[in-house]
Amino acid sequence: MQNLKEYITHPVFKEIGKISDLMGVETYVVGGFVRDILLGRKKEVFDVDVVTVGSGIDLATKVAASLRPGLKVSVFHNFGTAMFKYGDIDFEFVGARRESYRSESRKPIVEDGTLEDDQKRRDFTINALAISLNSDRFGELLDPFNGVLDLENKILRTPLAPEITFSDDPLRMMRAIRFATQLDFIIEENTLEAIETQCKRIEIVSKERISDEINKIMLSPKPSVGFKLLEKTGLLAIILPEVQKLKGRETVNGIGHKDNFYHTLEVLDRICKNTDNLWLRWSALLHDIAKPVTKRFDPKLGWTFHAHNFVGEKMVPRMFDRLKLPLNEKCKYVQKMVSLHMRPIVLSEEEVTDSAVRRLLFDAGDDIDDLMTLCEADITSKNPDKVIKYLANFQLVRDKLKDIEERDALRNFQPPVTGELIMETFGLSPCREIGIIKSAIKEAILEGEIRNNYDEAYQYMLAKGMELGLTVKGN
Ligand code: ATP
Ligand code: MG
Repeated sequence: MQNLKEYITHPVFKEIGKISDLMGVETYVVGGFVRDILLGRKKEVFDVDVVTVGSGIDLATKVAASLRPGLKVSVFHNFGTAMFKYGDIDFEFVGARRESYRSESRKPIVEDGTLEDDQKRRDFTINALAISLNSDRFGELLDPFNGVLDLENKILRTPLAPEITFSDDPLRMMRAIRFATQLDFIIEENTLEAIETQCKRIEIVSKERISDEINKIMLSPKPSVGFKLLEKTGLLAIILPEVQKLKGRETVNGIGHKDNFYHTLEVLDRICKNTDNLWLRWSALLHDIAKPVTKRFDPKLGWTFHAHNFVGEKMVPRMFDRLKLPLNEKCKYVQKMVSLHMRPIVLSEEEVTDSAVRRLLFDAGDDIDDLMTLCEADITSKNPDKVIKYLANFQLVRDKLKDIEERDALRNFQPPVTGELIMETFGLSPCREIGIIKSAIKEAILEGEIRNNYDEAYQYMLAKGMELGLTVKGN
């Protein structure tokens, strides 16, 4: 039997063992923590799951009191669990359980059980490893389902027959794909097949939990692994039908278009190398989301996806709402990225003019760098000459952006001349002319006719006012 005591040196483990001895109960550390130490996985946040063959709440309360009087314990009577934070680690305690499920709900009937009952109800063999904390067996590894072997072979497999594990709690199907993506593991054949046959049961799982798993896939080094598995198993069509519809190629008169699903995944993987921003990654996933609904075949032009950026911008909040993702500025940011995603590329296809760069800066504001990152990831052409040309033009766009930014401070454009000043100067009450003058000034700045400062804008306002037949008050 393998002994892992050198991995569990944190003083809390010793304390848990000592109190368990006194209470006369067996106690183990289980689940993700054990898996991750065996994998040598570095994580920023740790959570430690402790299972005891007795009352988790009693044990947590006593351990906390003995560690530090007054240490706060959160108790969840409904679940029979309790937790405390010690240093920056969350310790969660639960009594070993046996679970049986009914078909219409994720909520099981729970009874007290042995350690092995508890290990059986866990999702994967690699998550069912336990290390004993009692002093006579401190550090002993309990691995009834050969989880260590699966860790070595990088395999995800359920402890029980996969149909049972997944039918009991369909969220586990998402977890399987999430772990495969995060850890770069293979889902064992029968386990994968069971996801395919049970995929419809994902419908009983709450949207929040599904989105949590999607976000974890998104934050992995190579999210395409997860999305390909979601697609293959039928889950994608249920949870993200819009993304599923990107798949496929149609041919008319011998002319095909590219498969937008695989293109999107390529863009997503590429952007992950340059950003950890979850919402920029979502923007990559959704940048072409409206291509299927805007697709037309034009005998002269071939395939077109007219206005797919604007239609996509409108689809984003509907998807976020359904998935219970935030509808605040995060959603607006993704909308903005989707709507602007073609601008830098269109711009760099032609000669890169100052005024086009100014307009881009004006529309993108502070998100300009993120937008450029998205566009660079979007260049996935198979033609190397084209890629070189685009990337060179992109560098030109970036240089010009920097140059114009230094001169014109357009990033968060505030009109240098206000509506009030226009009214005052020409002795006007609110009227159409004010708007006309304001937008003329903005246009002149974007076109580079004048610079973005008060003096030049003031002179321009006077000239424009005269043109409109206005006279300066007091003259
Ligand atoms: P991570 O914390 O990195 O997301 P984890 O494996 O620790 O991964 P948690 O959600 O923290 O995942 O769960 C801790 C442990 O609880 C798991 O390792 C697993 O043993 C068990 N577990 C969690 N969720 C489920 C589930 N839906 N079905 C069965 N067992 C589960
Ligand atoms: Mg965990």
